Amino acid sequence: MIFDAYNKMKEILQNKNLSITPLRLDVLEIINSSLSALSAQEIGGKLNEYDRVTLYRTLKSFISSGIIHEISLAGLEPKYALCRDECSSETHNHQHVHFSCIECNKVLCVEAEKIPIIKIPKFSIKSLDIQAKGICESCSS
Ligand SMILES: [Zn+2]
Ligand SMILES: [Zn+2]
Ligand SMILES: [Zn+2]
Repeated sequence: MIFDAYNKMKEILQNKNLSITPLRLDVLEIINSSLSALSAQEIGGKLNEYDRVTLYRTLKSFISSGIIHEISLAGLEPKYALCRDECSSETHNHQHVHFSCIECNKVLCVEAEKIPIIKIPKFSIKSLDIQAKGICESCSS
């Protein structure tokens, strides 16, 4: 891993008051450098050696700190992607669409031109997940 990337990951962990461990740094960098969302298994496949329980706990702590978010799409195992927007530890407030490609099966966080604002009277929305299926940029070219 590039030294600069490591420093950036350290900073993210420090900002969220998470202690810095080699596993946390590796997991964060794997998620950060991937263009598409990754499943726990895909993340594990990129690590030299790992313990499934520890990896799972690491992902949970990242989610509850607002560093990454979980994307659960019907028929697919949960995928994880970095929170590009400012997410707090309590709410994940994303203004992007989760796009799954029917050709390559990749799941991507994509910016949409217009995101609908959804309000439900008397209900408080803590997270909103907008999902779309289709053919991604690299598959359509
Ligand atoms: Zn988030
Ligand atoms: Zn595709
Ligand atoms: Zn996303």
